[in-house]
Amino acid sequence: MAVSLSPAALRAKERPSPLTTGHATVLRARRLTPGVQRIVFSGADLARLPDEEPGEIITLIWPADDAERPVLPTEGWRYAPGTPDQHWRNYTVRDYVPDGPDGPLLTVDFVLHGDHGRCSRWATHARPGMVLGFAGPRIHFYAESDADWTLLVGDETGLPSIAATLERLPAGHPTLVFVEIADAAERQELSSEADLVLEWVTRDGESAGRSRCLEEAVRAASLPQGTPKVWVAGESLAVRGIREHLKHDRGLPIGPSQAIGYWKHRLTPDDVE
Ligand SMILES: Cc1cc2nc3c(=O)[nH]c(=O)nc-3n(C[C@H](O)[C@H](O)[C@H](O)COP(=O)(O)OP(=O)(O)OC[C@H]3O[C@@H](n4cnc5c(N)ncnc54)[C@H](O)[C@@H]3O)c2cc1C
Repeated sequence: MAVSLSPAALRAKERPSPLTTGHATVLRARRLTPGVQRIVFSGADLARLPDEEPGEIITLIWPADDAERPVLPTEGWRYAPGTPDQHWRNYTVRDYVPDGPDGPLLTVDFVLHGDHGRCSRWATHARPGMVLGFAGPRIHFYAESDADWTLLVGDETGLPSIAATLERLPAGHPTLVFVEIADAAERQELSSEADLVLEWVTRDGESAGRSRCLEEAVRAASLPQGTPKVWVAGESLAVRGIREHLKHDRGLPIGPSQAIGYWKHRLTPDDVE
């Protein structure tokens, strides 16, 4: 089945990149589950974010060692010569409130995967007043109005986008969701008016990025008839297995931006995107 870009996707391809940049300050942080830190950012620069599609990608930028504030990229993601190396990673707009009593607010859910990642370490210890840079957002889930049903598959890193997407799917829309989590304590309350079949797939002791439990759950699923909108995100090798299965064994339409490696396990080969 051919995959065509929706009008929203075509519009997004034509806009400046990054669309906007700014600084955001931690307003509050709380442990949503044992493995996820929910951080709400505030700051006047956040008013520049558009609110188009759910679960948009936002790039967060950490200052270089010795610097207090991150340097922001200009059009084309360029930096002035001599800008020191900074840490940046892509995250998801879990929620955006343009005009609340505290001004514009951005919510990001950080998966805590230990001290070996700077973002994970930072999120674990984040306190009100800490400042990050942001650039974006970029849209990556386009609701297809002519899809008969929707399939959303992800691990904990894909869950913020899945949760945000579910909140905006039309009432009664047939939707299948598979979410890989460490164990039952990582389940989150998800709200949706869609006609939802949700499976929490637990690793139960296997390490993140090495378990094949998500792919096995998708392989075992019986899928509805008709044309679906498919979206998959998680560890790169796991995503590749699921994409190949859905494309080749099930014949489902999956474009390049619909099955995305969100992070890479250190043992995943370099040639896996
Ligand atoms: C479009 C997009 C949206 C994303 N949205 C989110 C989001 O909303 N929330 C979120 O938490 N993540 C999200 N991610 C994933 C996040 O960017 C990566 O997990 C990132 O690598 C974390 O950076 P770090 O500095 O903590 O670790 P890095 O310096 O990148 O990596 C250090 C080590 O940690 C390992 N590692 C990285 N991530 C994980 C993980 N999740 N579990 C176990 N080990 C890991 C790596 O294999 C590496 O060995 C998103 C990624 C993309 C591409």
